[in-house]
Amino acid sequence: MKKLKKDLRSIVTGYSTLFFCAFALSISMSSCGSEVAPVEQKQPNILFVFTDDHAAQAISAYGSNINRTPNIDRLAHEGMLFRNCFVTNSICAPSRAVVLTGKHSHINGVIDNRVEFDSTQTTFPKLLQEAGYETAMIGKWHLKSEPEGFDYWEVLPGQGRYYNPKFRTPEGTVEYTGYTTRIITERALEWLKEKRNNEKPFLLLYWHKAPHRNWQPGPDYLSMFDDQDVPEPDSLFDDYSNRGSAAKTQEMTIAEHLNDRDLKLTPPGNLTPEQQRLWNAAYDPKNKQFEEKDLSGDDLVRWKYQRYIKDYLRCVQAVDDDLGEVLDFLDESGLSDNTVVIYSSDQGFYLGEHGWFDKRFIYEESLRMPLLIRWPGGVQPGSVDTHLVQNLDFAPTILEMAGVEVPADLQGKSLMPLLRRQAEPDWRRAVYYHYYEYPGAHSVRRHHGIRTDRYKLAFFYNLNEWEFFDLEKDPNELVSRYDDPEYSGQIEELKSELNQLRELYRVPEVDPASKSPKN
Ligand code: CA
Repeated sequence: MKKLKKDLRSIVTGYSTLFFCAFALSISMSSCGSEVAPVEQKQPNILFVFTDDHAAQAISAYGSNINRTPNIDRLAHEGMLFRNCFVTNSICAPSRAVVLTGKHSHINGVIDNRVEFDSTQTTFPKLLQEAGYETAMIGKWHLKSEPEGFDYWEVLPGQGRYYNPKFRTPEGTVEYTGYTTRIITERALEWLKEKRNNEKPFLLLYWHKAPHRNWQPGPDYLSMFDDQDVPEPDSLFDDYSNRGSAAKTQEMTIAEHLNDRDLKLTPPGNLTPEQQRLWNAAYDPKNKQFEEKDLSGDDLVRWKYQRYIKDYLRCVQAVDDDLGEVLDFLDESGLSDNTVVIYSSDQGFYLGEHGWFDKRFIYEESLRMPLLIRWPGGVQPGSVDTHLVQNLDFAPTILEMAGVEVPADLQGKSLMPLLRRQAEPDWRRAVYYHYYEYPGAHSVRRHHGIRTDRYKLAFFYNLNEWEFFDLEKDPNELVSRYDDPEYSGQIEELKSELNQLRELYRVPEVDPASKSPKN
């Protein structure tokens, strides 16, 4: 194992050199030192920081045991942390469409990543723009159609690239040289400093690509975590023996489904002769593995987990560092006092739990979204909320913050009462979840379900299989208790509540996914 590590360090050094070379050629974005005078205004500015696939387990304010995120933690210390924020449909484009519209996937139409967002729909940025906000969208959009409701926008095409990204703009495609997380930050700062109309309150969607697959770290982060092992999750070697068939038949295991690009076992292009020599010395392309030939079984899974999680965390670290720079700018420019800062990610992610990467399932790690809101004068610093909230609630919340009337057909609830710490005895008792993308990447079967503060019920309806978990006794969801007579009462209650939620949210009887031409 030691020899393997040594070889890999050489490879990473090779990578490092390569990326630094690319950077030497990069265009250095001019940074403007001028400060922007704060404008007296009643409507707060809103800076919405959104990442892609950033799980709460990788945020120290949520108790991470694998990394530190001091700048996201600042938002927790200076604002409110929502401990129970859950996504309605754990996949990228659908989550974004729900965030923008405040409506479930079956209403806004984006049931899976293949559907184009109908951008003629009402969204909260459009309503803020109409209400006098200066609006901008910079970063990852991932909804196929062009952004609407923005005075300024610059978005990655599709997933975008980690290095030397192209951006779609109203004037056509532009290309930048450098690391995408950094470039999105620079574009956002430039808009804040130079491009916006500072007579108006602003809404800035600062939406990162990171830490989405295939987790390519920035040049400053390539050797981070090199000399340590990242702790493994308890359920890394889950064998799925006490659940239905969906957990067994997915295709997202660290053991089997990480590919060479994920593990960075494919040599990057344009290697120097010396880099190629190092690569050849360490890697056997025929057997697709490094020299340590006896690495197999659980040891190989552990090795892959380290490869995966370190790159994931390196991507997260760049996001956190850049957030620190943006927060510093807000402080230095006097904008902090009248700016709401929201941090969230489009869904959670498996960081080795159940032996997985990726998302999609209703299980905790991909269901939970991080959500932190700092609002000086509006939110008590260091507060924690435990109500059941969802990405469905973001649009009505932001509208209410901005003093804009919330349209009656939105399905989410404004979080304003929770931000104000008002008693909310009638808050929702359960959240509704529905995943549609099957057949599809990672082969996760379609399912819907609900989660209360203690229980979870899921129905994989094409398999006619139910699962039920008592999260208090089994927080890692390793044993479905659906057939346990002890829980029959709770299960009946949850089924009734699930039907009520489907009625409330007007979920059609015919599965919308069954109409998709690709299904
Ligand atoms: Ca995502």
